[in-house]
Amino acid sequence: MKKELNLFTFGDLLNHFPFRHIDRTKIETISQLTPAFDFIQLKVVVKDIEVIGASRKKRLVATAADATGEMQLTWFQRINWVQKFLQVGRTYLIYGRLGFFNGQPQMIHPEMEVFEAQQSSGRPFLEPVYSSTEKLTASGLGGRQLGKLTMTLMSLIQEKDIPENLPEEILQSLHLINRFDAYRSIHFPSNQEAYTKAVKRLKFEELFIAQIKLQQLKNRRHRISKGVVFEKVGELFNQFYTHHLPFALTNAQKRVVKEIRNDMAHGKQMNRLLQGDVGSGKTIVAVLCMLLACDNGFQTCLMAPTEILAQQHFQTIQGLLKGVDVEVHLLTGSTRAAGRKKTLAALQAGEIQILIGTHAVIEDTVQFKNLGIVIIDEQHRFGVAQRAKLWKKATIPPHILVMTATPIPRTLAMTIYGDLDVSIIDELPPGRQPVQTVHRYDTQRSKVMNFLRTEIDKGRQAYIVFPLIEESAKLDYENLMQGYEDVKAYFPEPKFWISMVHGKQPAKQKETNMQRFVENDTQIMVATTVIEVGVDIPNATMMVIESAEKFGLSQLHQLRGRVGRGAEKSYCILLTSSQLSNDARERINIMTATNNGFEIAEKDLALRGPGEIDGTRQSGVLNFKLASLVHDGKMLELAKSLAIRLLDQDPELNSAENLRLFNFLKLQPETVKWSKIS
Ligand code: ADP
Ligand code: MG
Repeated sequence: MKKELNLFTFGDLLNHFPFRHIDRTKIETISQLTPAFDFIQLKVVVKDIEVIGASRKKRLVATAADATGEMQLTWFQRINWVQKFLQVGRTYLIYGRLGFFNGQPQMIHPEMEVFEAQQSSGRPFLEPVYSSTEKLTASGLGGRQLGKLTMTLMSLIQEKDIPENLPEEILQSLHLINRFDAYRSIHFPSNQEAYTKAVKRLKFEELFIAQIKLQQLKNRRHRISKGVVFEKVGELFNQFYTHHLPFALTNAQKRVVKEIRNDMAHGKQMNRLLQGDVGSGKTIVAVLCMLLACDNGFQTCLMAPTEILAQQHFQTIQGLLKGVDVEVHLLTGSTRAAGRKKTLAALQAGEIQILIGTHAVIEDTVQFKNLGIVIIDEQHRFGVAQRAKLWKKATIPPHILVMTATPIPRTLAMTIYGDLDVSIIDELPPGRQPVQTVHRYDTQRSKVMNFLRTEIDKGRQAYIVFPLIEESAKLDYENLMQGYEDVKAYFPEPKFWISMVHGKQPAKQKETNMQRFVENDTQIMVATTVIEVGVDIPNATMMVIESAEKFGLSQLHQLRGRVGRGAEKSYCILLTSSQLSNDARERINIMTATNNGFEIAEKDLALRGPGEIDGTRQSGVLNFKLASLVHDGKMLELAKSLAIRLLDQDPELNSAENLRLFNFLKLQPETVKWSKIS
């Protein structure tokens, strides 16, 4: 039981909640069954047992009857065991999901037990059903036995064994039942209402305790790690702002810069997440932060996830800072040894103010003189460990600004990134037109290509993106190559130039091909998702995504963000096969309906669940038993605001009302060190 279900103590057993209850008072009759039924209980006599087929295709079919009719029960697994257990002529209580086949009711793998006349006495009406494992069931500890154990345990414990942990005031104001009752009712509710109340109480507790821990961590970090103080806005910042800024900042950009400045001026270490949709203008915000650091005598490091992006940032930022007296250097994996040596020495001597690079900047050999702020672009590509390394680059931990174009759904922002401060750029620069997104089937490809042709003739450029997914890398690779040939066949005239980039190319080749497209030497870029992040080519106004059904929502949105970056109208064409799963169709529909990354992020969470969202699995904070980040957003918000209020009033939980909460937390195991995550 320990290893299989991770249950070690009686407490664990009590926390192994049933995933549903069977209403033992309700027995249906066969003649009344319709497809509208879901899980049902029946009382039937077994009339006939038959094993059909051989070896792998073998199945066991039993004919079962009650007073009103007959139906079939089918097993595909554990046939031998069922064969031994079932006896013709005996009466059973069966439970399972009703199905219909050729208009006839049937059940696959129902739960069965021999019906005994007096059995219902002494058993709960709403019988809990627990998950178990194959192995445990085989050794006699199936769901039902777990239920018996839990029942025994419940009858032995008293209210003092499950003491209340929430403050009285919260219980009262939210009408929550006490903890002991909640535990009893979640396992053995007297009726549906009692169960609902138990779930509400325990869900709230789960969210509230998590929020208290997060807020405590955040408060503690603010107390302990004094940040570098950027007290003045100096000459460089002002000079740039008044003379070199190529455009007026949007209001959202101004607000965010103010938030960041405020953080860094007050002696606390900034840990800020900057969310802004693709194209919302995060780079300029980063540049202003860098100049603030320079003005106060500190160095900045900007880290990008790929070589191409680091290069592009380097060029953009150097361009922006032309005429401003700062030294900007680039350091990546392909920086030559001699250049590298010089850069490292200059960095250590404090002669370089801004270092831009890839992972290379966090290697141990890279030593700063006085690093003041680290800016991380497109954070989801960097692992937790890599980010943690940055802390060690200076005696006082540098400020950290994480910029992401993958908006994080609100509930995740409140949990996984709950100890970070969040800034949001929710406004695009003026004059942007939304990318027009359409869905076309493979069969319409030649029409799509004709459309590309007319746009290219007007001077535009196009991306054609192919999936490259790990598990089927070889096949995808072949598809990509085939696709490249096809594109060449569609555009045979010498005036069309096509480049291709994919992950298997040597870095140099990838770069050359990319660079040619950047410089408009080629009009069509055939690529895999290596172009997903950050590349900025305003003249590229078309994107065709092949096999779009294979991509996730956030990836599609990231890809689409490569177009629509200039003043010209842009298009994104999602090509799919005509056979689409419901989920895939839903994704495509969402993409054609909205350009809003935040909206897409919420839908993505709802479709996939939080476990699949980038970076969440490793955080360990999502192990909620009852609460759902998809459905319980409101309760989470409430829990958060109550947790903040409580800690504002009583930071150390010293008051008498909070004693039980304090005692409860004291007994909790150490949780993830969120404060070190970014
Ligand atoms: P992202 O947030 O995706 O990193 P960028 O910083 O690359 O976006 O900005 C996208 C484009 O918008 C760039 O070409 C940039 O010069 C331009 N831009 C950014 N801010 C503004 C603004 N306030 N007004 C006009 N153009 C802007
Ligand atoms: Mg960017």
